[in-house]
Amino acid sequence: MTAVLASKKGEQTYEQGLDLYPWFEEFYQNFVDTGVPNSLLIYGEKDIGKLNFALYLANYLLCENKKNGNPCFECQACKWYSMANHPDFFPILPEDSYDLLPFTVNPENIVSSSSEDKKQSKYIRIDQVRDILSVNELSSYRGGMRVILIYPVEAMRIEAANCLLKSLEEPAPNVFYILVSHRLESILPTIRSRCRLLALPKPSQDASIDWMAKHSQLSNQSRVQLEAKFLEMERSPLKVLQALEGKTFNSSQMLDELSNPSGIDHTKCVELLSNAELADILRCLQKWCIDLYMVYSGILPRYFPSRVDVLRQKANNIDIIGLNQFLKILIQELKLSSHPLFPKVQLESVLSKYAQLFKS
Ligand SMILES: [Zn+2]
Repeated sequence: MTAVLASKKGEQTYEQGLDLYPWFEEFYQNFVDTGVPNSLLIYGEKDIGKLNFALYLANYLLCENKKNGNPCFECQACKWYSMANHPDFFPILPEDSYDLLPFTVNPENIVSSSSEDKKQSKYIRIDQVRDILSVNELSSYRGGMRVILIYPVEAMRIEAANCLLKSLEEPAPNVFYILVSHRLESILPTIRSRCRLLALPKPSQDASIDWMAKHSQLSNQSRVQLEAKFLEMERSPLKVLQALEGKTFNSSQMLDELSNPSGIDHTKCVELLSNAELADILRCLQKWCIDLYMVYSGILPRYFPSRVDVLRQKANNIDIIGLNQFLKILIQELKLSSHPLFPKVQLESVLSKYAQLFKS
């Protein structure tokens, strides 16, 4: 199995068809066996592969020679789909997010912004939804299913969401809506109530490590090393790969810095802000400090067990009352971090306080 969503330049080209991530395989099969509803809202944590699941499901629905709940990858519909050229497949994403797809979408299936306003491109606008829904009042090109994929639903402007509601109320026959959300609680209740909700499971450890071991960029690492990376990157194998490619916050780098409090390289830490939110970095620091607290209390670390030796060494030398206060400060800092005025200054100040927890 090769994950194509991780990179357009993966080992397997998309033209060979999209594989489902292995941690979804059993779950997917059970779901499909119960029948796919016309209006589905898939949700779950970020970076577990929800888009991959949705795309695989769309492929299955469009396939004209389905095999045991899976697409055949051989029929004309599958071929068109794998070339992002299926006339009955309509992915709706914010304009600046189409590159998240593992293929280049047929430009005819993208409704471009008519306005000059670039800020709008991170939202799904009403014209994107309206144009596609109006197309779907006609019959499908292939005489089979039509699939409308919306990713993520929370990017829809309120007018766009209202426009979609009407279609969800009375879905045309053979039209399937696959909605995907990172934050179910932010979705309009009226949309939620019209869909079947499907919570996707988090990647299991064994399946994730098997998958990572097969990836060329990680194949030279032992299972113990891969397990450490998996745990450090919030149990998301996709995040491990993104971090390697410099696309997301690399918590391993941050942990290396935290392991050496007296010599923290502030410049390196601040550089992490180029592809991470301040909140991501603070949460990593918070987990590290909780682990320090646990290890000090004679308990095994919860978040970074692979670094237990360093944690023990640092915990031997820590001002535990100071750590307690620092954890409270971190909670306050995290509250402020969603709209930081000066993230670099805030981060440097927090790191200085962290360094002072250790006796020299
Ligand atoms: Zn097929």
